[in-house]
Amino acid sequence: MKDKKLPLDRTTLNDLASILNATSSDSFLDICPIFLRDKIINKELSICETCDTFFKYIPQKKFCAECARKRNNASSAAGNRKYYEKNKEKILAQNRKYLQENPEKIKAIRRKYREKNPEKIKEIRRKYLEENREKINARERARYHAKKKLERDKNE
Ligand SMILES: [Zn+2]
Repeated sequence: MKDKKLPLDRTTLNDLASILNATSSDSFLDICPIFLRDKIINKELSICETCDTFFKYIPQKKFCAECARKRNNASSAAGNRKYYEKNKEKILAQNRKYLQENPEKIKAIRRKYREKNPEKIKEIRRKYLEENREKINARERARYHAKKKLERDKNE
């Protein structure tokens, strides 16, 4: 069964509950559409804790597919960040090792990327040149003078 939206949203149901002065913890069930209520009591269906979707009952399952996916993404992104912070050196070392051991593979991937994104790369290069003009000019000058010096030394 695919997850389905409640015929009434949870806010409306909660408003109804407050109008009815329902205070018990199952007030939601009291005002839930009857066909859903029976299914929830029979543990055929559950209602998502964070939205108005109901889904097939599975023990411990509290969220619809959509909300579960969102929660997983959020927590796994946080987990990844934490793992990276903790193992930064190890990960960087692994990356370096991988780069050294697979130069052909990396070259192929980069070539493919360049072929697919020429505009993006032009833009990155332009930005880099703009932001590092001083550095690049200095390097050019140094190279020029080194070459000149080499020629002079040779002629002496
Ligand atoms: Zn949900």
